[in-house]
Amino acid sequence: MQTADVVIIGGGIVGSSIAYHLAVAGCRNVLVIERESAQGKGSTGKSMGGVRAQFSTPVNIQMSLYSIPFYASFEERLGHPSGYRPQGYLFCATSDKHMAYLRANYEKQLALGLKDVRLLTGDDIRSMFPQLRADDIIGGSFCSTDGFVDPYSAMIGLMTWAADHGAKLWKNALVTGISRNGESITGVETTRGTVSTRRVVNCAGAWAAPVANMAGVDLPVQPLRRMLVPTEPFDQFPHSAPMIIDMSNGFHFRPEGLGFLLAWNDPEETPGYKMDFEPAFIEKILTRAADRVPSFENVAVNPKRAWAGLYEMTPDHHPVLGEAPQAPGFFLANGFSGHGVMHAPATGKILSDLILTGKCALVDTSLLGLARFAEGRMIEETAVL
Ligand SMILES: Cc1cc2nc3c(=O)[nH]c(=O)nc-3n(C[C@H](O)[C@H](O)[C@H](O)COP(=O)(O)OP(=O)(O)OC[C@H]3O[C@@H](n4cnc5c(N)ncnc54)[C@H](O)[C@@H]3O)c2cc1C
Repeated sequence: MQTADVVIIGGGIVGSSIAYHLAVAGCRNVLVIERESAQGKGSTGKSMGGVRAQFSTPVNIQMSLYSIPFYASFEERLGHPSGYRPQGYLFCATSDKHMAYLRANYEKQLALGLKDVRLLTGDDIRSMFPQLRADDIIGGSFCSTDGFVDPYSAMIGLMTWAADHGAKLWKNALVTGISRNGESITGVETTRGTVSTRRVVNCAGAWAAPVANMAGVDLPVQPLRRMLVPTEPFDQFPHSAPMIIDMSNGFHFRPEGLGFLLAWNDPEETPGYKMDFEPAFIEKILTRAADRVPSFENVAVNPKRAWAGLYEMTPDHHPVLGEAPQAPGFFLANGFSGHGVMHAPATGKILSDLILTGKCALVDTSLLGLARFAEGRMIEETAVL
C-alpha cells in the first residue's frame, strides 16, 4: 500500500504551495492528489491573478506581506516565472465613508510595515488617469507593489519544485473517503487505491466542504460564482494601468494581453456550483465599465472568451487555516473568499509550519482556526473584491 507523511487533497495553487513549503522544510514524502487530468481546472485557472496588500484586517495584510515579496522573488527561488507585475491597485473613493475606510486601512497597513502605499486626492487620480470619468472621485489609495501574477504559472512552478524535491502528484485520482481510527487519521481512499497517512490537508477549494465531511468535519465554505469578461484588443486606456477599483459599485479592471479584463461581483449571485457563464452578465458589466471609463463604450468583447469560476466563501470572508479541532491530523487550507492566489504563498508557509512544528510565527493562527465560528469569534473583512 502507498504511504505518505502528508497527503494533500487538491492540486490547485494552495495544495501546490503547501507541497513546496513542506519540501523546503525537508518534508518530502508528500502526495498531492488531484481528481482532474491536469492542474488548474478548479478556481486557480479561473482567477484574475490580482495580488494586493491593501486590506483592512491585520491578518490579511500580514499574509500579503509574506506573499507579495515571495511572488516578486519567485523566479530566483524556483527557477520558474510567477508572472508578477507590480502595476499596483488603485482604489477610487466617491464617498466620505469610503475615503475614511481607505484612510483607516492605510494607517493599519503602514503600522504593519507596508511601505509603498499612499493616499491620493481626487486631483491626483484625475491627473494619473484622465481617461477615467472622475468628477465624483474624492480620493483613493494606491500601492505600487500590489499588482498581478499568472496563477497557472505560479501553481506549476510550485508543484514542479516540490516534485523535483520528492513530492508526488497523482492526477485523475479522486479522493472518495478519509479513514480514521477513533480520532486519528489513518489514510485516504482514492480511485487509485488506499493511501496510508496520519496527516491530510484539505486543499479542495470550492469543494472543501464535501471533502471535510469525509473526515466528519463541518466546514462553512460555500461556492459562489464569479464571472470575468476579457475585452478584445483595446488601446484607449494605458496598459501600464494598475487594477482600478470603482468603490461606488465594485467594478474593477486591469490590463490583460492587448485588452483589459473586466470584473464585477454581482450582488444578486447566490451560492451553488454554477460554473456556466451567463451571457446577460456582459451588458451588466459593460454598463458599469462605460460609466467609469467612457471610452469603454466602444470596447469589443467576445462572449465566447468570457468565463465563470467559483470563489470559496466563508461567513467572515477569511480563510480557515489549521488543524480541525475534532479531527487531529486533518488540516484545513480553505475558504479564501476571493484571495486564494494572492495568499497561497503565506498559506503554504503557515500550513507547513503547523503540520511540522504545531506553531507558526507568521500570523496569529488562533484567529483563523475553524473553532472561531462555533465560538463567535468571526473576523470581518469588508474589502472583498
Ligand atoms: C473569477 C475569479 C477571479 C478570481 N480572482 C482572484 C484574484 O484576483 N486574486 C486572488 O488571489 N484570488 C482570486 N480568485 C480566487 C482564487 O482563484 C482561489 O481562491 C484559489 O484559486 C483557490 O485555490 P485552491 O488551490 O484552494 O483551489 P482550486 O484551484 O479550486 O483547487 C482545488 C483542487 O481540488 C481538486 N479537488 C476537489 N475535490 C477533490 C477530490 N475529492 N479529490 C481530488 N481532488 C479534488 C479540484 O479538482 C481542484 O483542482 C478568483 C477566483 C475566481 C473564480
